[in-house]
Amino acid sequence: LPRLPIFEALAGHDPKSTVVVHSASGRKFTYGELLSDVADGKERLLKEGRGKIDGERIAFLVENSYDYVVTLLSIFGTHSIALPLSPAFPAHELQYIMDHSQASMLLSSKKFEGKALEVMKQGVERTPKHVKLEKRMGGATPEVVTLEGCSEGQGGMMLYTSGTTNRPKGVLLPQSVMTAQAQSLIKAWNYSPLDHLLHVLPLHHIHGTINAVLAPLFAGSTIEFLFPFNAQSVWHRFAAPFLPNPPSPLPSPITFFTVVPTVYNRLLTTLSDLTPDYQKAARTAISPQNLRLNISGSAALPTPTKKAWNTLSSGNVLLERYGMTEVGMALSCGLPFSSRVDGSVGWPLPGVQVRLVDTETGTVIEEGEELDSEGRERDGEIQLRGPTIFKEYWKNPAATKKEHVDGEDGKGRWFKTGDVAVRRMVPCPEQNGNINGHTERWDQGPMYFIRGRLSADIIKSGGEKVSALEVERELLSLPQIAEAAVVAVPSGKWGHKVGAVIILKDSEEEGKKGKWSAMDMRRALRGRLAAYKIPQVMKIVDHIPRNAMGKINKKQLVKAVFQDEA
Ligand code: ATP
Ligand code: MG
Repeated sequence: LPRLPIFEALAGHDPKSTVVVHSASGRKFTYGELLSDVADGKERLLKEGRGKIDGERIAFLVENSYDYVVTLLSIFGTHSIALPLSPAFPAHELQYIMDHSQASMLLSSKKFEGKALEVMKQGVERTPKHVKLEKRMGGATPEVVTLEGCSEGQGGMMLYTSGTTNRPKGVLLPQSVMTAQAQSLIKAWNYSPLDHLLHVLPLHHIHGTINAVLAPLFAGSTIEFLFPFNAQSVWHRFAAPFLPNPPSPLPSPITFFTVVPTVYNRLLTTLSDLTPDYQKAARTAISPQNLRLNISGSAALPTPTKKAWNTLSSGNVLLERYGMTEVGMALSCGLPFSSRVDGSVGWPLPGVQVRLVDTETGTVIEEGEELDSEGRERDGEIQLRGPTIFKEYWKNPAATKKEHVDGEDGKGRWFKTGDVAVRRMVPCPEQNGNINGHTERWDQGPMYFIRGRLSADIIKSGGEKVSALEVERELLSLPQIAEAAVVAVPSGKWGHKVGAVIILKDSEEEGKKGKWSAMDMRRALRGRLAAYKIPQVMKIVDHIPRNAMGKINKKQLVKAVFQDEA
C-alpha cells in the first residue's frame, strides 16, 4: 500500500484488535484482515482500471459494513478519489452525481447491484461495461461497473454537500485535508483503541465518514455498524451488555456515539416502547460511566433534547460541535461537562483558524469587540482557514472563488462558511487543557454560538435582525411544540416577516394533536423573546420535510407553506 498517513496509522495498530463489528450478526473483522483485504482490493481496482486510475473519481454504492471500509481504503490505495454514494438516493439523483463527478467506475455490493445497473442505464453519453469480479473483497463479491472517460486529479475523497440550500456541490478533500481533520478530532475528543463506536449515520457525508470512520481508524478504535438505522435496534444494542441475562458472547459496551439531533429525539421518544428490563439496561448503557462521549451536530441541538438526554442518562451531557462538508469539524465543545454550554458549539478545534466578519461592514470582529457601542452583541460570518479546510469545489470555480476571500496578512485565503455566529465569554470551570497527553490548549477563550445561515436563518425584518435558530430554540422549549422551523416570509411592509412552521405534540388528555393558535404562541413567547423576534405568522403542519441529514430547505418550506402570505 502507498505511504499515506492512514495506511501508516493502520499498520501501527494491533492486527488482532477488532476494527469493524456488524451489529446485526455480531460478525467481527480485525485490523490485520482489513490491511490484507485493502491490499487485495487495491490490486483489483488497478487491474480493472488497467493500471492507471490516479486521480479518477471512483464511485461506490456499498451498505454500511466492513465492505464499505475496505472499498473506501482500496480506492485510497490507488491514489484516486473515493466517491461514496447514498443507497437511499433515487437512481436519477445518483445519475446526477455520476454525471457531474465524471466518475470512471461505479462499484457496488451485491445488495445494490440492481440499483447500480439502473443508474448506469440512465447515463446518456457513456457506454457502461459491467464486469463481475471473481476475487473476494471483504467477504462479498462486489460488482464493478466501468464508465469510459477519466481525468487526472489528486487522490482523496469527494463528498457532495447535503443540498439544503441548493443543488449539492462536490467538495474535493485531498488526503492531507482528511488526515488533518481526523487528527484534529483525535486531539480534541481523545479517540483511542479502547473506544467502541456505534455507527448509525449515512456514509456519504462528512459526519458519518470522517468523524465516525476515518478518525476511529486513525486511532485504532472499533466501529460497530448498525444498519439500517432503527431506534429500537439502537436501544437494544446499547442495552445488551447490561441486561440481567446478557447475550453470549457479551457485546462490548458502547463508549462513543455521534449522531444528529433528530436521532437523539427519535431515541428519546422510543425508549418507553422497551420492556422495563431493557429500559433500565439502556439507561445504564448511556450513563457517563459507560458512554464516554455522546456527540450531536450537523444541525442545531435543541436545549430540551439535551436536557432530556441528561435526565435519562443520569448525568451524561451531549457535546455539540459545528462543521460542514467543506471543512470537516471546525468548532466543538470540550470533554469536561461544564464546557458543553447550552446553545454553544464551543471553540475552534486544534489547527482550525476562525474569524468572525461583520456581514454589513466586512470588518473583522476582533476578540474583545463582541459588543457594539450600545452593548448589543455583534454577529458575524464564520470564516475559516488552516490545513483542515478544502481547497476547491469540483468543476465549480465560480463557487470556489465566491466563497473565499483573501487574507490581508498574506497567510492564505479564508473560506466563507455562510453561517453566522456570535462569540461570548462563558466561564467553564473544568477546562482541562491537557487531553490525551496533548498540552495544546484549545478549549479556552470566548465560545461560539451559531445564529444560523446567512441565506436562510438571518431574517431582516423592519430594520431588525432575527436569528431563526434563536427563535426555534425558544419555540422548542414550549411544552406544546414537537418540531419548529422559523423562516423569513416576504412582506411588503417589513421586507420580511418572521414566520413559524410548527408541529404540535400529541396532547395527553385527548390522545391527539392539541389545539394551538398564533395568539397562544405569541402569548407563550412573550417575555422570552424581544417583541420583534416573535413570529408574526404561524402554520401548524403534520410534517416538515427534511433531507437525509435531517435538515430543512427553508426556501422550499416558505414556498410550500406561506405562498399566500406575500
Ligand atoms: P448545501 O451546502 O448543499 O446547501 P448543507 O450546507 O446543509 O447543504 P452540509 O455541509 O452537510 O451541507 O452542512 C453544513 C451546514 O450544517 C453548516 O453550514 C451549518 O449551517 C449546519 N450545521 C452544522 N452543524 C451545526 C450546528 N451544530 N448547529 C447549527 N448548524 C449546524
Ligand atoms: Mg453548505
